[in-house]
Formats: sequence, structure tokens, C-alpha cells
Amino acid sequence: MRKLTIAIDGPAGSGKSTVARQVAGLLGYLYLDSGAMYRALALKALDCGMALDGESALATLARETHIELKPPSPEQAAAGVKNRVFLDVREVTSEIRTERVAEAASRIAAIAAVRQVLVAEQQRAGAGGGVVMEGRDIGTVVFPRAELKIFLEASPEIRAERRWKEHQEKGESFTLAQVVEEVRERDRRDRERQVSPLVRAADAVLVDNSAMDAEETARLIVLLAREREKEIV
Ligand code: C5P
Repeated sequence: MRKLTIAIDGPAGSGKSTVARQVAGLLGYLYLDSGAMYRALALKALDCGMALDGESALATLARETHIELKPPSPEQAAAGVKNRVFLDVREVTSEIRTERVAEAASRIAAIAAVRQVLVAEQQRAGAGGGVVMEGRDIGTVVFPRAELKIFLEASPEIRAERRWKEHQEKGESFTLAQVVEEVRERDRRDRERQVSPLVRAADAVLVDNSAMDAEETARLIVLLAREREKEIV
């Protein structure tokens, strides 16, 4: 049976990464987290003390940077790691999972020339099919011809609560109100930017998982994938 390209897009806290990772595991596909690439580049920009709106300097940085995603080891997978992330050969898997980096990522992601570089790398990484890639523009820009597109949603309150629980598990002391504000601001920036804003592709299946856990959501998407696999043999 032919392997599909599955695009999963949605806002922060919609459960994309957990769900996409599970879908990939159930189907035996490769999982790729495109957001991790924006985060890795943002980390480098922060480490270099660069202005996050310096378009041409950031585009040059993107071109000169090597970012690679690799599957986790079994121990890392058990600890919740979904992709290992390498920034110019240095592993930054956990370093990119901070609010500071997320915020910086959403700023540099608004720059067209930066996106151009990272989109080309994402297209290369997923070129063979048999891949589940998640992000904001996978079904609209990176793989507009993906055989299955999912737009994952959940209410803003549920999404903020999920993020808040993740912070708690990591021992970070954000209040729920702070997380609600952070999620709202990042969503606004991602939805309102000029280039590749977060929008549902016309042919994406809308899945609202406010009342579903990650496993139920993943199983639903696997059912849709199995149907698509049969359709395109
Ligand atoms: O998915 P994650 O929250 O890790 O992504 C961090 C930021 O990277 C997002 O807020 C968004 O601004 C940006 N991003 C993007 N396009 C993607 C993936 C992520 O603009 N395909």
C-alpha cells in the first residue's frame, strides 16, 4: 500500500505534537515537528544576541544553519521526547522547550525569507512520503498536496490548561493566567501574520479535540488515514 503524507496543523496547545507522534507510531511513519526547526533557529538567534526583527540578518542565519530532526532513543521516547533536535550538530532537544524560545520562534517565523529556507528543508525531509509532519502551514504551504490534512483545534481555555500542565510537570511556576495570555498572543501572531498564517486548508479535516484525549484523537486520524490509503492505491 502506498504510504501517505499526513499534514497536521493547528494552534499552540491543540495537542498536535502528541497526536502526530502517536499517529506516526501507529502507522509506522516518520514523525517530523516543523515547529522544532523554528525554535532551534530562534535559540541560535537569541544566543547570538540578534534582533528578532532583523529580516536579512535572520535570513542569512537561516541559510547558514544546519538543523536536523532525528527520532528519539527508546529511553527518550519513554520520557516524552518526540523528535531529537540538532542545531549545527549540538543537541538542543530540551533547550528549545521554553516559553522564551517559543515566543522568539513565533517572531522569526513571521519573516518570509526565514520561512523560505525552513520550508525547503521540511519539504526535503518529508519528500519520501510515509511521514506525519505537524506545524502551522504544512497543509497549506509545505505539502499542499498531502493526501491527508488535519486541522486540529481545541477551545482556548483547554489549550492554555494543557500548556499550563506541561509547565507544572517541568516544575515551572507560571500561573494559569500567564499561560492564557502567552497562548493568546502567540496564536494572534501566528494567525495574523502576512506570510503563511495559520489557517485551515480548504481540504483539511477539522478535528476539535477539546473533549478527546490524545490517544482518541490519534486513533480517529489513523482511521481517516487507513481510508485514504485504500482510496489512493
Ligand atoms: O509548534 P510550536 O509551538 O513548537 O512552534 C513554535 C512557533 O513556530 C509557532 O508559534 C509558530 O510561530 C512557528 N511555526 C510556524 N510554522 C510551522 C511550525 C511552527 O510558523 N510550520
